[in-house]
Amino acid sequence: MKESLVNLKKTARTLYLLEHTQATISWDQETYMPEAGNEERSEQLALLEGIIHQKLTSPETGRLLAALGADDEKPEGKGDFPDEDKALIREMFRSYRRASRLPESLVTEMARQTGLAHTAWVNARKKADFSLFEENLSRIIELNREKAEKIGYKEHPYDALLDGYEPWMTASQVETVFGPLGEKLSDLVARIKAAGQPDVSFIEKNYPIDLQDSFGRSVIKEIGFPSDRGRLDLAAHPFTTTLGVNDVRITTRYHENLVLSGLFSNIHECGHALYELGVGKNIQGNILASGVSLGIHESQSRFWENMIGRSMPFWERYYPEFQKLFSKQTEGVSLDSFYKAVNQVVPSFIRVEADEVTYGLHIILRFELEKALLSGELEVSSLPGEWNRRTKELLGIVPKDDAEGVLQDVHWSAGLIGYFPTYSLGNLYAAQFMNSMKSDIPDFDSAIRDGRFDKILDWLRGNIHQYGMIYPADELCRRVTGENLNPEYFIDYLESKYDGVYGLRGN
Ligand code: ZN
Repeated sequence: MKESLVNLKKTARTLYLLEHTQATISWDQETYMPEAGNEERSEQLALLEGIIHQKLTSPETGRLLAALGADDEKPEGKGDFPDEDKALIREMFRSYRRASRLPESLVTEMARQTGLAHTAWVNARKKADFSLFEENLSRIIELNREKAEKIGYKEHPYDALLDGYEPWMTASQVETVFGPLGEKLSDLVARIKAAGQPDVSFIEKNYPIDLQDSFGRSVIKEIGFPSDRGRLDLAAHPFTTTLGVNDVRITTRYHENLVLSGLFSNIHECGHALYELGVGKNIQGNILASGVSLGIHESQSRFWENMIGRSMPFWERYYPEFQKLFSKQTEGVSLDSFYKAVNQVVPSFIRVEADEVTYGLHIILRFELEKALLSGELEVSSLPGEWNRRTKELLGIVPKDDAEGVLQDVHWSAGLIGYFPTYSLGNLYAAQFMNSMKSDIPDFDSAIRDGRFDKILDWLRGNIHQYGMIYPADELCRRVTGENLNPEYFIDYLESKYDGVYGLRGN
């Protein structure tokens, strides 16, 4: 067994290096590559993808995993190894299982159909007409059903797809937390709506981009983004990518009249990067040196973005500097008014523009619909009607057309089913982690106010980052907080914060 483990580690190391090579050229494609370079770049990426797939699914990898006793019942194998070795076996088995069970014909067909679907979706969205996308989506749902059957699952086909993004989690676990969350959020949104909105028009004024950039950079530097181990560049869509142990790249975009959007995407991506950069020395350089799930990853980005970046202590620290930089735009705007603008809650149709209260409702909507489509309870042709009906129930508003409703996200056209829940799980994990953090750091608020972010980052490293993928998300959550994922922490956080912003008591 020992020898098999040594050999499996070698394979894992090769995969790790190949994936980072892939990430490097993808990062370049999204940032600095001239447009004409795209054709060969796509070929390079496809070639690497093929090599990775071959290496991962080779008979040799299968033999090593079998020799270690890894199977569906015991993915971590049967050997008596330390936690990080068992985790490496478990994660290699998971990747091997997912990749080797999908026939090449299905993978090729999925790539072909998503190519067609993307074009159809762009056109359908432009014309606000779901019927132009309906057939493509039906095909994608069918292929995803087939994919789930091939990979295998115990309860619901959704489980096999969700596992691609939130390893080891099931749809029924998500339901357990989304159920109470949906009701409480809808109720909170209704109370906020009744409270009335402050005037926040100053936030839509023009804020020069060079000043936004220098402010945004100084904030993430203070939070702890190390310039010798990472870079911040511009890209069409903000993202974080890891190119190596000491090389994590983040990207952002700025708009003159959306000053908060650029700043918070800097902080958000910085949160992702700090997680990747914080893995322990014992797992550096192998496949465990990364975030354990997209949900936990989002907990790190959203913690910094929403719970720190949109908090009162944070703006007590930064508002004077912000006001100095943008004196005309913020003339006569008090700290309190600014804080309210940063935390404005308005039910809207578009998920990516949603605030932290309504965001979860957008996700619950998508999760319910995806599950129903996959099980066949919902026909693709009935999807737009169902979308509008549930949006009305959850958010109290009805989209004026399909572009504003069911066609707004790119995910389904790209074949991604089972991805959406991870965004919301991130908020829930973040609030639960923060609750534990606050009992360890009693001067949490003043640490933020004084810019002692190292105190907070050290806690995150010690409790979460250092473990990388050693513990699956649910186990990590129990280790950090002493219990399973519990939506009450997030609800309590929102209730108390937005009572402050909107004066809800008594409403
Ligand atoms: Zn993110």
